[in-house]
Amino acid sequence: MNRTYVVTGSASGIGATTARLLTERGARVIGIDLRDADVEADLSTPEGRSAAAEAAIEQAGGRIDAVIACAGISAPIAKTISVNYFGVTELLEALRPALAKSDAPRAAVVSSMASLQPNSAEMVDAALAGDEASAVEIAEGLAAQGPEIGYLVYPSSKRALSRWVRRRSISPEWAGAGIPLNAVAPGTVLTPMTEQLLATHEGRAMVDAAVPMPLNYHQPPESVANLLIWLTSVENSHLAGQVIYDDGGAEVTLRGEDVWSWAD
Ligand code: NAD
Repeated sequence: MNRTYVVTGSASGIGATTARLLTERGARVIGIDLRDADVEADLSTPEGRSAAAEAAIEQAGGRIDAVIACAGISAPIAKTISVNYFGVTELLEALRPALAKSDAPRAAVVSSMASLQPNSAEMVDAALAGDEASAVEIAEGLAAQGPEIGYLVYPSSKRALSRWVRRRSISPEWAGAGIPLNAVAPGTVLTPMTEQLLATHEGRAMVDAAVPMPLNYHQPPESVANLLIWLTSVENSHLAGQVIYDDGGAEVTLRGEDVWSWAD
């Protein structure tokens, strides 16, 4: 495979698995992460994002074939909106000119089935308006009320990200430039992010009540990585703006069969 990929969150979990599988298949991978990566950068800040984009484009020699954005955190803190939303959207927009130079440019991000959970509409709107200061201020207000209310920052970040993908994917800059942009929304994935939570009976019961997975239960990172790899492969010529629930059936269990009533 003669393609250059940029993978964020490449030091752990889904990102590390994606980077490994791509490398095994012969792709060149430029990993971005806080540490243990080709580009070490903090995607929670605007400066970190632009430094990451600049370094990745330089290492790639100016042309990037695909970007896979996995970096994220789930802590009930304000930083979660910065990493999960702005750390993905701003980086993708900064890398887009280098992507546009590829013969078969592709991009995919990792959202979550948590995007379906209760969230802060105000924070989602601020994020989608590109107003990081307001989104962070709202997140700080929630985080200050303790971890249960603070948890709302995570589903809000993923709801905003899924909506951004649907919104931007069909724009002249993405679809119009021949760049498929999609999201994968996993269920409960066995990575360092969930390790502690799943270690206790109570934690597992809480997660399983919120994320029911009738198909094969908790998923390995490979189940997400392989889909991300297909979405960013040359073979994906027409799939755009989709949020694919790769979640053991959790989304269908929760939402049921009717997702068409918006048109009725
Ligand atoms: P992980 O903790 O194993 O890996 C996340 C990686 O992101 C780490 O290497 C971390 O260093 C990096 N990262 C965090 N903050 C960063 C920052 N400021 N700058 C640069 N890199 C940063 O977690 P994972 O389970 O592999 O999660 C990957 C993605 O999948 C996340 O976006 C997460 O929200 C999403 N997700 C995970 C699950 C799950 O159950 N594990 C479910 C749904 C969605």
